[in-house]
Amino acid sequence: MQIEELSRALEANSFDIHVVKSRAAATETILSLVPRDATVGIGDSATVRQIGILERLEERGTKLLNPFSRELTTDPSKRDVRHELSRAVFTTDVLITGTNAVTLDGKLVNVDAVGNRVAAMVFGPKQVIIVVGRNKIVRDVDAALHRIKNVIAPYHARTKEFATPCARTGRCSDCDSLDRLCNVTTILEKRPWRTGMTIILVDEDLGLSWDETWPLTRISKIKSDYEGVTWVFARVSP
Ligand code: SF4
Repeated sequence: MQIEELSRALEANSFDIHVVKSRAAATETILSLVPRDATVGIGDSATVRQIGILERLEERGTKLLNPFSRELTTDPSKRDVRHELSRAVFTTDVLITGTNAVTLDGKLVNVDAVGNRVAAMVFGPKQVIIVVGRNKIVRDVDAALHRIKNVIAPYHARTKEFATPCARTGRCSDCDSLDRLCNVTTILEKRPWRTGMTIILVDEDLGLSWDETWPLTRISKIKSDYEGVTWVFARVSP
């Protein structure tokens, strides 16, 4: 019911919507939307890694620009390559990424440290495909920001060994840390002009997000699935 309500709200905001039951169906939908000869950029997203789309696109020979591969993010000597790739993503045919939260009135809320992911979502690639698990749905923008700052960022910081206060306390203190993750906030209220934007709503938990009132078994599964596709990036100066 919640997904159907959300789907209608997103459509009213001019996003193209696909509602699917599973991550496998999400992958097949993306393969049907992306031409084989397209150049595809990737925004850092546990959800995108979890659904297995990267491997499937590579298997069929589609060119991927992925600045967030394990190879590039764990080797400090590859930092410049990674940064160049991040810039090249802006001129790709398609960007595939996730979102931190989606609101029931059809807005996408994201917070970034660098900003390359959210910038490319807004302008650059001709087509943007955003994969969203059901656990990313929140009531409104306030609820989205509360969850991002007090659930997602603290856990993300802890997992990736960022030295933010929230990694220790689990709560946002609007820090001045050099490792601060929350430097750029975007709210996509409606589809931006000149960018095709497709949102794939998946009726599964994907990526990092939960409501603290949910059963612990569900939260633990979200955490362990996230940790399975996440690793510590090599430390580079901001
Ligand atoms: S502003 Fe700082 S303390 Fe707050 S969530 Fe972001 S990184 Fe954590």
